[in-house]
Formats: sequence, C-alpha cells, structure tokens
Amino acid sequence: MASISNIEITHGVAGLVRAEVVRSERISPHFQRVTVTGPDLERWTYQGFDQWFRLAIPVDESHPGFDRLPDRIDMKGYLKYLTMPKATRPVIRNYTVRAYRPEAQELDIDFVVHGTDGVAGPWAEVATPGKQIAFIDQGCGWSPVDDADWFLLVADPSGLPAVAGILRDLPRDARGLAIVELDSLDDAQHVDAPDGVDLHWVIRPEGRKVGELALEHVRDLPFPEGVPYAFAVGEAALATGTRRYLVSELGISKKNVTFCGYWKAGRNSD
Ligand SMILES: Cc1cc2nc3c(=O)[nH]c(=O)nc-3n(C[C@H](O)[C@H](O)[C@H](O)COP(=O)(O)OP(=O)(O)OC[C@H]3O[C@@H](n4cnc5c(N)ncnc54)[C@H](O)[C@@H]3O)c2cc1C
Repeated sequence: MASISNIEITHGVAGLVRAEVVRSERISPHFQRVTVTGPDLERWTYQGFDQWFRLAIPVDESHPGFDRLPDRIDMKGYLKYLTMPKATRPVIRNYTVRAYRPEAQELDIDFVVHGTDGVAGPWAEVATPGKQIAFIDQGCGWSPVDDADWFLLVADPSGLPAVAGILRDLPRDARGLAIVELDSLDDAQHVDAPDGVDLHWVIRPEGRKVGELALEHVRDLPFPEGVPYAFAVGEAALATGTRRYLVSELGISKKNVTFCGYWKAGRNSD
C-alpha cells in the first residue's frame, strides 16, 4: 500500500465498486492496459488528474470475498480486511485511473509489466474478459498550492498514468517540466500536455536502478523562473530523492511538494 508520502487523500464516496474485465492488451513492451466495466461505475465519481484506488484482486475466483471487504481503507477498514481468512482475502494494490469513458462505462488501468513476482502485474498480463475485480476510490494526490508559478512532475513507469492524467487535465496555459523515466522509448504514450509544459522521456540504461536517471535530470535540467509546485511519484528512492533535493538543497517549501513512494525495489506491497 502507499508508503512514504505526504499525499493527502480526498476519499471518494462510492464505497466498494465492483467491475469486470472487458479486455486486456499489451499496449507497449512494459505496459498492460486492462479495461473494466460494471454498473457500479455509475455511482462512482470520476475526478481526473491522478485519481487512484485500492484495487482488490481475488485469490480464489469462486470466492472473490468482495462482500466482506470494507468500503473504505482507513484504520478500521484495514483491520476489518485483515480479519478475512487468508485463503479468500483479495490482494489489494494501488492503481491510477488512466482513462474513463462514461458513455461506455469503461475504465482503463495501465499496469507496469515487471515480471512474475507479485500479484497485480502478473494478474494483468493474463486477465481475460469476465474476471472480477473491486476497487475503493481514494481520490487524487495532486493538490497544487495556489501561488505556484510552474509545475514539476517526476515519475518512473508506475507514475506515467498519474503524470499523463495530470497533464491532460491541467489548464491549457499551465507551464512546467515533466520528467518520466521509462525502460524503453516504445513505452512512451501520447500525452495531451499543455504547450507550456516540456515533457522529457528519460530511458533507463540497463544496469541502472529505476529512478536514478530521472533524479539526475531533476538536478541537471534548467528550471523555469519562479516557484514550482512539484509532484514526484514512483519507486520510493525517486520520490524521496526528488523531495529531498527540492526542499533541503533548493529551499522549496514542503507544502509545494507532493511525493509518494508508489513501490519499493525488492519489496512487495503486502
Ligand atoms: C497512488 C498509487 C498509484 C499507483 N498507480 C499505478 C499505476 O497506475 N500503474 C502501475 O503499474 N503501478 C501503480 N502503482 C504502483 C503499484 O501499486 C505497485 O507497483 C505494486 O507494488 C504492484 O503490485 P504487484 O502485486 O504487481 O507487485 P508486488 O507484490 O507489490 O511486488 C513484487 C515485486 O515486484 C517489484 N515491483 C513492484 N512494482 C514494480 C514496478 N512498477 N516496477 C518494477 N518492479 C516492481 C517489487 O519491488 C517486488 O520485488 C501505484 C501506487 C500508488 C501508491
């Protein structure tokens, strides 16, 4: 679950939303797009930007266990979740809404394909139509301060859905810099960014740790004039490293930086 972060959660009001897979396709070498639908999406409110949710994946298809899930993950909800028997307790992982098409009631989730380790990534790769999931809306982490002159967005592949959503939904006169590290240029997506935001795809060379190169770019690229609001997500060291550089070295106020370790190298999210 979300670990090192100052993300303030604006909880959704939909409770537990059940849905099923419509299709799952490999859209690029390291991304699997899973599209889900279901009548529950009607009472869920789409907020755009980096809206995210706790995704519940059944461990036992014949007993998905959704009826016993809490409808929000606060301390009480999480304890309730832990009392479920392990054999039928769905696995919970965090994901971002990549796109929502209300006319078709279809929601896209872009999963990073990261091998056979873990649950969500491998599940997405083989998800077939009809597979059941449920999710609990968590709202947006993006919460810009009013007096920022420009925006800085930093992410690894797991943060691409968030950065793409934010750039798509920013006012068209927004200015800034976005740095997204990928494993391959073929993973770059069309992003509907404001003209004033400079988007840099940074390709990780083999042998380098995830996020290292993106962090180097944060340090090396010339920043626009004025005070930024920054949003840094992805592997924990990238999120905390960006925040440390901005706050400790550049003296930018903590309230101007939202950061979140989306995952930690070598550790699963249980
Ligand atoms: C708010 C939020 C939004 C997120 N949105 C997205 C999203 O839209 N798309 C997305 O792909 N991820 C997203 N993530 C990250 C995702 O929740 C984690 O990557 C999660 O750990 C994946 O679960 P898993 O079951 O596949 O692997 P886990 O069981 O958690 O981990 C198994 C192993 O895989 C490694 N691992 C996990 N994730 C990655 C990765 N991305 N790259 C390389 N190795 C990895 C772990 O270090 C561990 O060694 C988001 C996280 C947060 C907090």
